[in-house]
Amino acid sequence: MSEPSQEQQAAQVVEAELQEAIAHTKCHRCGCFQDAVNALDQSAALAALLPGLFGEAKARFEARRYDCLGCEVCWPALASNAATEIDPTLADAGHCATAEPVLRDGWPPLPGDYKVLRHRAPVAVCTLNADDLVGRLAMAGPAGMAIVGTMRTENLGIEHLIRNLLPNPNIRFLLLCGDDTRKAIGHLPGQSLISLMRHGLDEHGRIRDAAGKRPVIRNVAPEHVEAFRRRVGIIDLIGETNVEAITEAIAQAAARDPGPDTTFLPEGHHFEAEHATEATRLVSDPAGYLVIYPDRQRRQLVLEHYDNTGVLTRILQGETPAALYGTVIAARLISRLDHAAYLGRELARAEAALRDDTEYTQDKAPGASEPAEAEPPTPSCGCSSCH
Ligand code: SF4
Repeated sequence: MSEPSQEQQAAQVVEAELQEAIAHTKCHRCGCFQDAVNALDQSAALAALLPGLFGEAKARFEARRYDCLGCEVCWPALASNAATEIDPTLADAGHCATAEPVLRDGWPPLPGDYKVLRHRAPVAVCTLNADDLVGRLAMAGPAGMAIVGTMRTENLGIEHLIRNLLPNPNIRFLLLCGDDTRKAIGHLPGQSLISLMRHGLDEHGRIRDAAGKRPVIRNVAPEHVEAFRRRVGIIDLIGETNVEAITEAIAQAAARDPGPDTTFLPEGHHFEAEHATEATRLVSDPAGYLVIYPDRQRRQLVLEHYDNTGVLTRILQGETPAALYGTVIAARLISRLDHAAYLGRELARAEAALRDDTEYTQDKAPGASEPAEAEPPTPSCGCSSCH
């Protein structure tokens, strides 16, 4: 059998690298993958050699969540490089699959394959290579968990993790779970991160005792690494993929939360809670006002809409607050955000009164000085003082 030609070998590389990206959900949402596939799909030479491959890749596209994750090993980039050996015009396609992502305002500063649940919680969870675990844990939503995401490499991956977690002083624990191995490339990010937390960096920025391929931290200042090590305790559940076991460990860690540590915060990206105050001035809604009450006989929530001359225009009834406020919004019976917030609160109160068979009195609208009248309704507003 004859040796494959250089072109066939290049095509095999393109296919193998794109199949890696196809197999990883982080790539499906990444601009690098989508731009690279779109560019490669323009080449007739590639299409002839790899029929169906780009269609298969495009079928994996998901809503773009980041332009580039900055992964050190980027499969679409490797595929693109190999593709230029087959079709040199692709070299001018202009997509860059390996650019370092830009820091943005807010927290977390770097985009990535993670989900944020809340800022003020003490546990960050890293699922390593277990993509599906991110969604399953986010769905479970344990109260102690601030953020959950994957991590692929022991250099850029760990750097991104530190840069994203260090600005949040509430995070005091990092729980590692999921699968740490990726045989094709040989990274061991979980083992490397645990080594970093336990043993730190040597004078060359190399993680002591790390077993991964290139465990070197170059883009995070050593004092930031040290601050992270001091602040955050590591919980080693590498290999664990059971959501219940992980949420139990999160709850145990949260019970030991020592509180926020503000002794070292990098510039920017951290937040202080602002004291919220009630509205002091009432602004009426040009769309009119609403009267809300529970109809105990029919077991329904009722909402009456009046225009600002006091004329009834609609009566709505439904089983849930969502049904009523959804209809109100769709029919444009409300136009101000403060009134919409008020409506949601009042409907929830009316629902609770209906469910618990307790008294319900429509509260005054935000900023109103006069209390609303009790049920049965009158055409004066909870939003009533708004007209
Ligand atoms: S940067 Fe990372 S997520 Fe994006 S395509 Fe490359 S490997 Fe996939």
